[in-house]
Amino acid sequence: MKKEVIQVQSLCYSYEDKKDVLKDISFTVNEGESVGIIGPNGAGKTTLFLLLCGILKPTKGSIRIKGKEVVYRAFNPAVGYVFQNPDDQLFSPTVWDDVAFGPINMALPREEINKRVERALDICNCKQLADRPSHHLSGGEKRMVAIASVLSMEPEIMIYDEPTASMDMRSRRNIIKLVTSNKKTNLIASHDMEFILETCQRVILIDSGKLIRDGHAAEIMSNSELMETCGLEVPHSLKNSG
Ligand code: ADP
Repeated sequence: MKKEVIQVQSLCYSYEDKKDVLKDISFTVNEGESVGIIGPNGAGKTTLFLLLCGILKPTKGSIRIKGKEVVYRAFNPAVGYVFQNPDDQLFSPTVWDDVAFGPINMALPREEINKRVERALDICNCKQLADRPSHHLSGGEKRMVAIASVLSMEPEIMIYDEPTASMDMRSRRNIIKLVTSNKKTNLIASHDMEFILETCQRVILIDSGKLIRDGHAAEIMSNSELMETCGLEVPHSLKNSG
């Protein structure tokens, strides 16, 4: 039986100086699903992610992760969030320290910390960067290290905010492999529609804070009228496919 790991119910959010950024959003995500969150700039994707992580507090409605209400500002080891900008995630003297930061704060035994760091660096092809200062890396390298720094906490749910922005083709391919081969629940916001199509069977389309569609990725993304109304483009590989 499929297990619901994320339950979002009638979620509304307003910033102090920007009202109604999310309006009555409801959806559920099953364990092991990869769901693309698509929508134009300012649709509310990042705000939704910050709410799922407990960084923001819903104005109305509820979010349950693995059956438990998300607690505002409490660390939830089940949820890993890869920020849009890797510079927001990396702050330690070396790559190794950045990737070990989470496991150290989870008070894991030293041996387990080392194992997790090795594993995460390996998955992200970053082993050779371990001793480098994170702030000296290229944008693409930083993004892979930022992903490793979240994977090392081994969360069941991974949330990626624009993971392919400023990535070259090889790094983009690496992320596709990483997302499609893990057994985790993935939520991915991206403007890279081909990437979403390769990694997610399902998409949730958000525009102006409203959930417009929730369903099969190729079906929604091939609807040119719908996509254009929401300021998006049908991915090339789906053009003229119907
Ligand atoms: P997306 O990720 O889809 O581009 P965001 O969630 O970043 O959208 O933004 C949704 C809306 O909320 C936008 O209109 C944005 O300007 C506004 N917004 C985002 N962060 C803040 C903030 N800290 N304070 C006020 N308004 C914000």
